[in-house]
Amino acid sequence: MEGLVVKSTGSWYRLLTAEGEPYECRLRGNFRLHGNKQTNPIAVGDRATFRLEEDGTGTVTNVADRKNCLIRKSIKLSKQTHVIAANIDRLCVVATLAFPRTTTGFIDRLLVCAEAYHIPACILFNKTDLHDDALRQELARLRSIYEEAGYEVLAVSAKTGEGLDAVRHLAQPSGRAKGTFAKPILLFTGHSGVGKSALLNAIDPRLQLRVGHISDYNEKGRHTTTYAELHPLAESFVVDTPGIKEFGMVDFTEEELSHFFPEMRRALQGCHFANCTHRHEPRCAVKQAVQEGTISQERYNNYLNIIDSITETS
Ligand code: GDP
Ligand code: ZN
Repeated sequence: MEGLVVKSTGSWYRLLTAEGEPYECRLRGNFRLHGNKQTNPIAVGDRATFRLEEDGTGTVTNVADRKNCLIRKSIKLSKQTHVIAANIDRLCVVATLAFPRTTTGFIDRLLVCAEAYHIPACILFNKTDLHDDALRQELARLRSIYEEAGYEVLAVSAKTGEGLDAVRHLAQPSGRAKGTFAKPILLFTGHSGVGKSALLNAIDPRLQLRVGHISDYNEKGRHTTTYAELHPLAESFVVDTPGIKEFGMVDFTEEELSHFFPEMRRALQGCHFANCTHRHEPRCAVKQAVQEGTISQERYNNYLNIIDSITETS
């Protein structure tokens, strides 16, 4: 039998069949399919085959290859990593220009993570009902920057419902496929207070998430829950990662970073040096594009800031 892992507690996993039938499943003790660098061999979003036991539970026998997975470093100072979720179809970065204002530096860090993890990303600017003319102009400016870079940008309001049809569209299976495996897996991320819970509730009132509730569990430095769950959201699934507010940056080198900025990735073939970091090197096509205005100065500045933070920690 085949199922989608929608819940993981570390020892038991809930798998949904194509028809949506849930089965509680266990792993065999020696189950290690993705090497031993990961603390959890299967995660929510994984597609697995299982054998039905006499007591009605299942035993996982195989896990399908992942198209991507979101990793968080293990708590201990080990090389082990923890997979938060696998096979994510879309990362929805939720931002606000109204309170609490999201900086493009923060948005760009999340987009870099998405690129590095091979997860398609989009940006949702929420709370448009609070926009005055100045913020409307700012939104138009950012929309053109991010759309030119290659991202879908949605202006939404959980309060008035503006733009929610476009978000509901993201929560629909593409094509005509039906059933559990056709449903896209979405992950909403962004600062606390930007309206993620309010948006999810507005899209699917069955969720009944608490709005305006700031969990301080993580901040107290206590051991946080590392097990995620997939909740139904309209015709899709949404990843809920209790206790995980931001996922860790991927490790990459200075030379790699520009590959995670789509507009730079397109320009960098023109650089004179193959390992150009687009800072001080002569004959740099990226710097040239910034000067000519085809690459946004703001995105480039954020790029430089991220490079600085890599070199500081390495
Ligand atoms: P989360 O921490 O990202 O899940 O944010 P919440 O969904 O808990 O929302 C944080 C606060 O923003 C709450 O007080 C919400 O009522 C408010 N909020 C959320 N969406 C909107 C919106 O579209 N417009 C306005 N004016 N307030 C919103
Ligand atoms: Zn360059």
